[in-house]
Amino acid sequence: MILATHAIIGGAIGKFFPNDPILAFTLGFASHFVADAIPHWHYPLFSAKIDRNDPMKNDMLINKWFIVDLFNIGVDCLLGIIVAVVFLHPQAAIDSSLISILAGALGAVVPDALQFVFWKLPDRVLRALQRFHLWIHSKTDIDAYHLSGIAMQAAIAALAIMLANAFVH
Ligand SMILES: [Zn+2]
Repeated sequence: MILATHAIIGGAIGKFFPNDPILAFTLGFASHFVADAIPHWHYPLFSAKIDRNDPMKNDMLINKWFIVDLFNIGVDCLLGIIVAVVFLHPQAAIDSSLISILAGALGAVVPDALQFVFWKLPDRVLRALQRFHLWIHSKTDIDAYHLSGIAMQAAIAALAIMLANAFVH
């Protein structure tokens, strides 16, 4: 899924554990893989190098398109964190609840950052994680369906926010 959706799901999970940001981070991290198992849309990554035969050999090329991608990824991630904070923590206070929401959101986006680290600095642990990430990631490609793809992720994000706000005050 896109980072915004991951961050909102992770933030919503974090809201359940205001006194345990480490657990919030860990469950946020785990939520990434569960969310990725659901068929979902991605925006295009122009610098991505896709290996049709061996997805373990996918990569991102550091070229001028990489700057565009980095910008889109940054906006995506930031937007998710802002939406998570605004809707999950509307009170203007820096408290343990906010820390856990942020920890959950961070945990939920880290697996995609680790993919990038794997592409550039493959090591054994990251290779195992990448195998798992690719294995659990939905193989249904709906990237061409932009409107329904975005609507679906907005609905999932809204549901995560509503559930967290319904159960945790
Ligand atoms: Zn992922």
